[in-house]
Parts: sequence; C-alpha cells; structure tokens
Amino acid sequence: MEYRFVAADGAAVSTFAADALVLVLAPDQGSTTVGALQTVINEAVKAGDFALKAGRSLYLHRPAGLRVPRALIVVASEASAKGLKGAMAKAVAGLKDSGSAHVAVTLAEGWAAGSGEAATLAQTLVGAVADATYVYRDTKPSAPKPGALKKISWLGQADAAAAAKAGLAQGEALAAGVTLARELGNRPGNLCTPSHLAAEAKAMGRAFKHIGVQVLDRPALEKLGMGSFLSVTNGSAQPPKFIILQYKGAAASQAPIVLVGKGITFDTGGISIKPGAGMDEMKFDMGGAASVLGTFRALAALRPKLNVIGLVPTCENMPSGTATKPGDVVTSMSGQTIEVLNTDAEGRLILCDALTYAERFKPAAVVDIATLTGACVVALGHVHSGLFSADDELAQALLDAGRSAQDTAWRMPLDEEYGDSLKSNFADMGNVGGRDGGAITAACFLAKFTQAYRWAHLDIAGTAWKSGGAKGGTGRPVGLLTRFLLDQAAAGSAALQPRAPQGKATSKATGKAAGKGSKAAKPNAVKPAPVKKAATQSAAKPSAKTAAKTAVKTAEKAA
Ligand SMILES: [Zn+2]
Repeated sequence: MEYRFVAADGAAVSTFAADALVLVLAPDQGSTTVGALQTVINEAVKAGDFALKAGRSLYLHRPAGLRVPRALIVVASEASAKGLKGAMAKAVAGLKDSGSAHVAVTLAEGWAAGSGEAATLAQTLVGAVADATYVYRDTKPSAPKPGALKKISWLGQADAAAAAKAGLAQGEALAAGVTLARELGNRPGNLCTPSHLAAEAKAMGRAFKHIGVQVLDRPALEKLGMGSFLSVTNGSAQPPKFIILQYKGAAASQAPIVLVGKGITFDTGGISIKPGAGMDEMKFDMGGAASVLGTFRALAALRPKLNVIGLVPTCENMPSGTATKPGDVVTSMSGQTIEVLNTDAEGRLILCDALTYAERFKPAAVVDIATLTGACVVALGHVHSGLFSADDELAQALLDAGRSAQDTAWRMPLDEEYGDSLKSNFADMGNVGGRDGGAITAACFLAKFTQAYRWAHLDIAGTAWKSGGAKGGTGRPVGLLTRFLLDQAAAGSAALQPRAPQGKATSKATGKAAGKGSKAAKPNAVKPAPVKKAATQSAAKPSAKTAAKTAVKTAEKAA
C-alpha cells in the first residue's frame, strides 16, 4: 500500500483525481469546504436519507461537481484519532468491492487540524487501512485475494504537511510491526514452532542492518542454568530457543530498554492438561513473543535514538512421559527453586529465567509481555491489557503510550500480600497461588526475579487475539510498546534511567509519586526468596559472563 499526503482543501478536493473520495464527518457536524458534497449532505439530511450520527454513511455514484467517480461520506463516532479509526474501517469495507485502487481521504469541518493532531490522525489512518485490508492467507489458499486498493492519498491543509507526512511514515512502520505480530500469531502451532520464530527473527536481522539477532539453543541454556525455562520443554519434541534481539540507535553507554516476550508456541497445559474446547487458541500463547518481534520490525523502520534489547524464550508446553509433573521442583537461573504445582502455569516459568538474563544489560527498564493468565481476561475482558508494576514512573509512561496508541492498558495492584499464596513447603516458591487474584499472583511470581531493575509486566491474555467469528491475532500491544519506545527516545534527559540498586530505590523515580498512597505503588513490593548460592554456581555462574559477551558480540556482528 502506498500512502501520500497532498495539500488540498475545498475546491482542490473537488478537482482531485482518484478512484474514490472518502469524506469523514464529525458527528452532528455536516459542513465541509467541498462545495459539491455540501449540497448533497444538506439535501440528504433534509430528505431523511442521511443522519449526522456515528457510523452512518452515504455512497454517491458519479457525484456531480467532483472529479472522482465515487464518493463515500462517513460519520465518525467522534472527531478524534479513535473516531477516524472506526470511520476508516467502515470506508474501506464500503469501497472493497468497488475496484477502487486509489482512494483519497479528507476530513470535513470540526476536526482539530493543528500539526500535532495531523501527525496522529495520519498515523491512525494508515493503521486503520492496514487493519481493514489484512487477510491471513498463509495456510488458506482459498482466502480472498488482495483487494484492488493500492494507494491512499490523505488530503489536508498545506500547513500541516510536514506533520502529516511524518505521521504517515510512522503509521507505515507501525503497521508493518502490527501485521508481523498478527501474522505470526495466526500461523498454526505445527508451523509456528520455536524454530520458526527463531528463523523469523534471524530473517529480520538479515533484512535490517540496525537489528542484531542471536539464538541460543538448549546446550547454551543448560550452561546458563535456565532450569525453570527448560523444565517447560521436557514433554516436547520441538527444541527450545532463546532469541536475543538488539536494536542500537544510541551510544553504547546508554542503558537499553529490554522487552521480554513469552513465546509458548503451543500450550496444552502439559500434564495439568487443558480442557479440549477452544484449545486450538493456545497457538496464540506466543503473543508476547510476536509483539516483541513486531516492535523490532517497527523500530527497524523508525530508527529512534535509543537502545533496545528483545528477549524471547520460546518452547512448546506438551504432556508426555518425560514432561514435568505437578510437584516437581526446578531450579531457576536466579538460583531460586520453584515447585511446579500446575504445569499449565508455564509462562512464568520461562519468563523468570529470561528476566534474570535481562540483568546483564543493566537496563533502564524491563517490560515483559505475556499471554499469562485467564484471570486477567476475567478481570479486564478484551479491552485493556493488564499492567503490573511497582514503579510509578514506568507504569505511567506505559499507560500514556497505550492511550495515545489506542492500545490501552489498565494498572493492576501488586501488593506484597498477594504473593503470600506462592509459599511452598518444598521450594522457595510455588508457581501458582490459587484461583483468586490469579493475574496478580502471577505478577508477584515474576516480581521475585526483577529486583535488580525497573520492571513492568503486561498481561495480554485478553488482548493478543480475538475468538469467535473474528478469531485471529490482533498485533497488540505492538502499538503501545512502539509508542513507549518513541516517547522514551524523545524524552532526552527525562527518559527512564536505570534504578538505583535495591534498597536505595525510593529515589527520584518513585519518590516523586510517593504520597499518591496506593500500596501497589510501593517499589519492591514483593521480596525475592533468598537465593540459593550453591544452585546458582553449579550451573549458571561460570558461563553467564562469557555468554553475555558472546551475545552482545554476535548481535553487533549481525548489525
Ligand atoms: Zn499454560
């Protein structure tokens, strides 16, 4: 799809040549500078054929006074990016069968047209068109062929040209990332294996010189002491992979932001096997991994000035004679031992080792993204992703990014008390804390591995894919993550900095927000279980440093 901005208003819109023109109205606002359409709107409203209400539309064939053979007038739900998104979905659907290859889009009166809004609206336009034209066809040869639509011209005011052009470019980069995440999510578990995700990451590393990729195989993971991650793969014939992505957009001295994505390419539940109904949807259990890969795809095109590391532990969770059993105790890379009370709570078992691995990058912040708990879906449905963090500054940055990207999250509590249910008589912790508050206890579990840095957890179990007739990956939260990273790159000296070592953490960052009162806001709300020195040393210690060096070196080479 080709997107371009054209400075055109009023009469210039009437003489603009395209296959179709879409005019987007604000609700209850029927005036436009396009004279020919103004007459039609007035008459249609008067005759009762058209109402200026959200979602209404009016199709005109060979409209008098316009150079285009087709015009579609659509009323948005509100004069905002959100309203434009919905209106464009309707417009693309409305013109799908018309054979229009080149569609011009313009806004009527009532929309804020300043340069700030122009960028956001242009970006939203691209996202909405990409979303509405996406078709999964990888394993469905009978899927509808790509439509005729090839080119979108965004007609706007000349003084907003620079902002609108930047918005279109940003929209294209983001759409490429979202589409990749959707596509990976939609691929079935027999094709989209851990090896497949690793191959996709490597292909991205080859295609974009600012992206470095390294993949660790089982022997390297054993050396690192990732006993928790590896315990999840015990029943699977598919080898596990640990994907390390590196985007370098700033000086090496600048602390990176680390994104950690859960990559369970199929989750049967393991020995704690899931019920059969809807189990096919567990191919989407790699949505966190897909969102990290998608975000890197967007970074490759956007090239913001910051450093980002992506970590993707990926494997299958299968039952078999060699699978991990309930009651088994495993040793994580951190040295903390875990009693696996339920093998279906496997996401946290692969994430915890990746979170420990993240320490070596001395990150400015770490954000993990995971389709982690059904409990989060019960709590928040399919609208907001769940956000858990003891760091107010980081949490706020993510919430703001989600709002501006229309990929929202909702902050959940993380009080120490919730973690009590993770106690085990046979290990430093159990991997589940019971049904109640299940999304929160999952976050409390992860918190035991994230004491060395600022950390936030996004539970996307309700937002990464849709069920029912529209079953498919959504590409969320690539929009939120990309916006967050762009905001950080733009923040300069106000960007997140690595947190002071544990114990002195109530510094600048958290101090500012102190007094807001919520217990959830307290830093270090969840204390880690004491680290078993012996366990760490046995497997992890000798190789950890060298592995880190190799990782960075290889990633640099690839970049
Ligand atoms: Zn599971």
